[in-house]
Amino acid sequence: SRRKLGKIKKIPAITLDGTVITLLANIELPSDCATAMESGASGVGLFRSEFLFMGRIGTQHELPTEDEQFESYRQAVTAMKGRPVTIRTLDVGADKPLNVEEQTALNPALGLRAIRYCLAEPQLFLTQLKAILRASAFGPVKLLIPMLAHAFEIDQTLAMIDRAKQELRSEKIKFDEHIKIGAMIEIPAAALALPMFIKRMDFLSIGTNDLIQYTLAIDRVDHEVAHLYNPLHPAVLYLLSTVIALGRKAGIPVSVCGEMAGDVKFTRLLLGMGLLEFSMHPAQLLAVKQEILNSDLDGLIAQTKKILRNTEPSAIAAAVNQMRANPT
Ligand code: PEP
Ligand code: MG
Repeated sequence: SRRKLGKIKKIPAITLDGTVITLLANIELPSDCATAMESGASGVGLFRSEFLFMGRIGTQHELPTEDEQFESYRQAVTAMKGRPVTIRTLDVGADKPLNVEEQTALNPALGLRAIRYCLAEPQLFLTQLKAILRASAFGPVKLLIPMLAHAFEIDQTLAMIDRAKQELRSEKIKFDEHIKIGAMIEIPAAALALPMFIKRMDFLSIGTNDLIQYTLAIDRVDHEVAHLYNPLHPAVLYLLSTVIALGRKAGIPVSVCGEMAGDVKFTRLLLGMGLLEFSMHPAQLLAVKQEILNSDLDGLIAQTKKILRNTEPSAIAAAVNQMRANPT
């Protein structure tokens, strides 16, 4: 019930065996930080910065300026009162068009979106990177890059960040020199070639919304195939568990920031895979926390191992439901 959930707002998310789990909020605008703080989030795990850019149909100079973006990022950082804010660089294209008139791609989800778009528009990207870096002088900020798949994209992105830093230095503007840079793992190729990311990145964040879309070849916004969008498909579980395990083995933080992280049906399964960081819509946070407070990790790890060996979808679904039904 609501009242019961309210009681756990201030206590940390710790499993019965004492493992601390970090619960973070997904936000779209700085004003969402109030709800994030209210929910007891330990920080922002995903700031979808494209919402500052959307609805400004037209040409480039109608896009938010560096100062305007900086103000928004700083506002979020200040509102989170010392808790980390993970700002994802522009993820436009596909279901989030910047300019409706430009929507001509036949397969927008496979087209020029997110980091591909930013690397094709270096001035726009540089402006955003400088604005984010400037906000990092006001509290802990992390940079998150969407839709990376290729090593050269990572290298070009890192070079752009260095250039943004260099420009700020010459302008004598303060920023966090050691800002952490992470990659969204949301293209199957990225999950399957994870060492390439582990080598170059400070942290990883799994975007299950796109990872499922691309793994199963299901358009996430097409209602006609929505029944085929199954987070428990063995291929999806394989990718998820592999990324979490390899990240942990390499000692680099891994979070999940797609819808799966905020769905209590999957909390125990993700815990069983070894996930320590969940980022979700603030409205889901207390329910997920309650699930964690009643979970015993050893039991869940054993059950998850069995589930990952299973290849029968109905048996997997039943086993995942079973995990939830049995308070350990
Ligand atoms: C995802 O793909 O899971 C994700 C978190 O990003 P978005 O939903 O904004 O694409
Ligand atoms: Mg995504």
